Amino acid sequence: MSKIILTGDRPTGRLHLGHYVGSLRRRVELQDSGEFDKIFIMIADAQALTDNADNPEKVRQNIIEVALDYLSCGLDPEKTNIFIQSQIPQLTELTFYYMNLVTVSRLQRNPTVKAEIQMRNFEASIPVGFFTYPISQAADITAFKATTVPVGEDQEPMLEQAREIVRKFNAVYGETLVEPDILLPDNKACLRLPGTDGKAKMSKSLGNCIYLSDTPEEVREKVMSMYTDPDHIRVNDPGKIEGNCVFTYLDAFSTPEDFAEFLPEYASLDELKEHYRRGGLGDVKVKKFLNNVLNRQLEPIRARRHEYEQDIPAVYRILQKGTAAAYEAAEQTLKEVKAAMRINYFDDAELIRVQSEKYQAGRD
Ligand code: ATP
Ligand code: MG
Repeated sequence: MSKIILTGDRPTGRLHLGHYVGSLRRRVELQDSGEFDKIFIMIADAQALTDNADNPEKVRQNIIEVALDYLSCGLDPEKTNIFIQSQIPQLTELTFYYMNLVTVSRLQRNPTVKAEIQMRNFEASIPVGFFTYPISQAADITAFKATTVPVGEDQEPMLEQAREIVRKFNAVYGETLVEPDILLPDNKACLRLPGTDGKAKMSKSLGNCIYLSDTPEEVREKVMSMYTDPDHIRVNDPGKIEGNCVFTYLDAFSTPEDFAEFLPEYASLDELKEHYRRGGLGDVKVKKFLNNVLNRQLEPIRARRHEYEQDIPAVYRILQKGTAAAYEAAEQTLKEVKAAMRINYFDDAELIRVQSEKYQAGRD
């Protein structure tokens, strides 16, 4: 069986460090591993509209931002199809048929959707489209027969929902769809990177992000005002590592080379943590180190972004080409789905023959 990747992001803002460690960094590694037959990366504008229906311009403006972020992180349009969700109508069609295989109470149990509804104050007035987005996500994944979906931990319930739909579909209509596997980051700190305010998740909607396209000055300002241990007031006070997002970010980003270059008096992150716990290590010193660590990783990304920004029409051409390839793949799956569901009336010669014989028999 072919190995196929599908994943994506909502164009609701520029991409941030959470996206990078949760999914983006991994995608580039997988792309360059040469192990996959096809890779599809989706800019999920239709999904973004499910909670931004009154602000389509925001979604429209952010498509290019997400595309630039992708390319600057090293997604290579020669190896990866980057496409725009709304331009693939087959995805909407699949969603419509999958809706019959999922109950309302099953959707209501989805913990990520529950949390998102709360965050958006939707309780009394959830848009139906938003409520059902896990079904549309199942359509996105299965349309490409994806075997592997590299995403952050918040996507686990979506993958489970997609797998259930596949099993149900195949049981009812015959073996047609492929069950996808989730691929989570293997570093625990990357499963759900917290925001700079210490909140559980760095998220565009919460305004607690360091963006991949932030300038060195912006990164420095955000790092210096990051949430740490509120009880670590004087340098000599013992400090807490748990819930201290400066250390979570170091877990996610720092490498032995960073220590050698920027903080040679410590052999490793464990040693730095130990000193902080004991007391005698100030937040400013740790933050300065984190700032260096982040900028070292962000610098090549910024430089590549700057290059692509010089030729925006070429970026749109990349999206158009990726979208054409995605269209073809989704069309093939939709054909198979409709044949399995027996809603392929005009290309079924057998159906026409049997029906006409039935009436023929009546006349004889
Ligand atoms: P929004 O607030 O609009 O939902 P978001 O910041 O949650 O935006 P998405 O586009 O919903 O971003 O998520 C895209 C991908 O990035 C998903 O795979 C998701 O798991 C991953 N991701 C997003 N935020 C984080 C995070 N803080 N840590 C790890 N992975 C993340
Ligand atoms: Mg999200």
